[in-house]
Amino acid sequence: LSPSPGGGTGFVGRALTQLLRSRGHQVTHVSRQGGKDRITWEELSHSGLPLCDAVVNLAGENVLNPFRRWGDAFCREVISSRVETTKALAEAIAAAEQPPRAWVLVTGVGFYRPSPTAEYTEDSPGGDFDFFSRLVSSWEAAALIPGSPTRGVVVRSGVVLGRDGGAISQMLLPFRLGLGGPMGSGLQPFPWIHIQDLSGIVCHALEKESVQGILNGVAPSSPGTSNGTFAQELAAALGRPALLPVPAWAVRAVFGAERAVMLLEGQRVLPKRTLESGYSFIFPELPAALRDIVA
Ligand code: NDP
Repeated sequence: LSPSPGGGTGFVGRALTQLLRSRGHQVTHVSRQGGKDRITWEELSHSGLPLCDAVVNLAGENVLNPFRRWGDAFCREVISSRVETTKALAEAIAAAEQPPRAWVLVTGVGFYRPSPTAEYTEDSPGGDFDFFSRLVSSWEAAALIPGSPTRGVVVRSGVVLGRDGGAISQMLLPFRLGLGGPMGSGLQPFPWIHIQDLSGIVCHALEKESVQGILNGVAPSSPGTSNGTFAQELAAALGRPALLPVPAWAVRAVFGAERAVMLLEGQRVLPKRTLESGYSFIFPELPAALRDIVA
């Protein structure tokens, strides 16, 4: 395979690129900046897709950037960096003389309505009740290529846990100082996945011809993890206490009410189709996933 990932330079993209290269695939990134083994989005729109076997989209402005105020301009960037890049890749695939065999998009479990009790599988409804759910709907709609011979897969990811980026990199310092704790009540579900498993699922989707449609990218034990248990397990992995809850008002003050929903509420999501498709998780349980990350 020679896949071309958009957003391949990011947190998940770096892990996926490493995994794909270790499996003997050649990888070309689509990026805002040119360079070795890269093409830019402008080059993609002018010259089309380079000859490749598969395409992945991982591009997206970081939603939880605490340094960006949640307002109209930032919302537009959050949307366009996902929907427009997805559209650009879908159009390039549709126009390719030799279309790739697979097309994988990573979106989020924000598609499903936050609830302390409901459990969601890939067949559950969603996508129409708040900013994030509507974002996922238009993101996934942008990936559709009617009549295309290219096999399409969407991975709806939970919070990606890994060493060099994502949520954990923002939490490590306070937790190392013993100042970490649950957010808000701590009772909200915390859908999570180890970065090696998210890369593993994307790779599985690229390589296995029978995989198609939606796959939930969350660990099998993730429906049993609350924000409070996550805080306790992270503190335990670091050998520190996790006594200081972060009050909901403080989360809203930093991130804005609409974005704070991502941290103060959560979904219990099952990777039903992912397991049925034959993917076997490396880190199904949280304590081992966290020990691997903070070791
Ligand atoms: P990153 O924040 O690391 O960003 C990925 C890449 O997106 C960047 O390397 C960058 O590539 C590109 N990008 C960033 N901003 C823009 C922009 N404004 N316009 C165009 N491209 C942009 O993301 P992750 O690796 O953490 O996540 C990958 C995907 O998975 C994202 O779409 C994200 O929404 C989704 N996801 C991530 C989760 C997580 O916990 N990390 C959870 C659920 C979903 P370059 O600089 O080369 O252009």
